[in-house]
Amino acid sequence: MAIDFSLSETQREIQASAADFAARFLAPLAAKIDQIPDAWESFLATREAYREMAHAGFTRAFIPEAYGGLGFSMVDFAIASEELARVELNVPTTLLGTGLGLQPIIQLGTHEQKERFLSDFAADEEGDLLASFAFTDVAGGANYDTNLAPAGIQTIARREGDQWVINGQKHYTTNGTGWDKKGAHLYTVVCRTDKNKGADESLAVIVVPGNTPGIEVVSVYDKIGHRGVATPAVNFTDVCVPIDNMIGQAGDGKAITSRAFSWTGGLIGAACVGVMRAAFEHALEFARTEKRLGAVPVIEYQNVGFMLTDIKMNIEAARYLTWKACHDLDASGGSSEETAIMAKIYCSELAVKTVYDAMQVVGVESYIKDAPFDRLMRDAMVFPLYDGGNRGIRRRQIHEMMKSPDYDSMRAAHGRYGSGK
Ligand SMILES: Cc1cc2nc3c(=O)[nH]c(=O)nc-3n(C[C@H](O)[C@H](O)[C@H](O)COP(=O)(O)OP(=O)(O)OC[C@H]3O[C@@H](n4cnc5c(N)ncnc54)[C@H](O)[C@@H]3O)c2cc1C
Repeated sequence: MAIDFSLSETQREIQASAADFAARFLAPLAAKIDQIPDAWESFLATREAYREMAHAGFTRAFIPEAYGGLGFSMVDFAIASEELARVELNVPTTLLGTGLGLQPIIQLGTHEQKERFLSDFAADEEGDLLASFAFTDVAGGANYDTNLAPAGIQTIARREGDQWVINGQKHYTTNGTGWDKKGAHLYTVVCRTDKNKGADESLAVIVVPGNTPGIEVVSVYDKIGHRGVATPAVNFTDVCVPIDNMIGQAGDGKAITSRAFSWTGGLIGAACVGVMRAAFEHALEFARTEKRLGAVPVIEYQNVGFMLTDIKMNIEAARYLTWKACHDLDASGGSSEETAIMAKIYCSELAVKTVYDAMQVVGVESYIKDAPFDRLMRDAMVFPLYDGGNRGIRRRQIHEMMKSPDYDSMRAAHGRYGSGK
């Protein structure tokens, strides 16, 4: 039986323990975060739940067993992510930020780099350590891969002897504050080694320990949603690290970034499913219990029943695309990116639409401040915009694959992963 969507016993346990964790530690936070006026204080309000997440093992789940982690598969992690995101998004997103920051090392680092940089995180039982993917320059992110130098990433790593000297200004560096505003435990910095060379020759990813002199957390942005996630601006001024902190070599930066964003793409698909589920559950409950001056609960009206049917179909479709994307990443060792990118695009845009569809089922009652839709909509709106925006980056990635003469449109469907995309 080649295609099988049934969950293993272990996966059911992961699902149940994530749902239990979310009910106990995330549910109380969900409403509280938005009541806190200051963005930094909102982030600090998540600290205890993040610690509990570390106690529960989730913060080490994605680190390979060989390096001290729990070695969850992508499908396992997606199953857990859906349960967490259904209840609250800030704490899981902080974990996603650390996962994204470590992906370049996990996926394409050498054995020595993995041992050097992952061991602290594998041993971190209190959730003290945060990693950060410093990709987005203050001046932009979408054109990180252009070959039309000097356009492109403006964060530059200059070689001086046996060191890289890094200068640049990043922002939206999730977790870049650490828990104390002094910086993350580790950054993976997307930069170029030569301002006059395009991405194919010069784009690179360099690991920078957070205590390296020259790193400055400049400000912490407040946002429409995800207010308990720390997204600061971080400056790198003459930051020196050994040359062997580079992952791969100059010119590998595009592939490394793409692989890291495919990992998050699959998991964001799962988070979107969690948010859609929450919106659906609220709308279904309303429809089954509210008559709105009529003689029968509004679910009896075809208008409402059909809308709920459409929402439910969309949720199921999004979940199975996500699981397939995660399965593809598991089966290909992270190299099969097409379905992961599609899951990110499809589920993120569907999540925004679905929350609004659910609001239409509920009607005007959905629009008051303490109804859950306020938070769900504000949180959902970032899904298409972040983690490589769907317009500036994600669709371009798929477009580029399709332009390639060896593009195989049935590769994912047939599970022909090979060694490339
Ligand atoms: C909550 C949150 C967390 C984040 N976490 C991180 C993080 O941990 N690390 C990090 O580095 N970044 C992070 N980001 C930033 C995020 O990844 C952005 O999606 C990414 O940096 C690109 O931004 P952008 O797509 O808006 O591109 P921009 O470069 O700002 O482009 C803006 C817009 O211009 C258009 N555009 C530009 N160039 C093109 C093009 N070539 N083709 C088509 N359209 C184009 C598109 O419409 C695009 O949306 C985060 C953002 C948020 C809100």
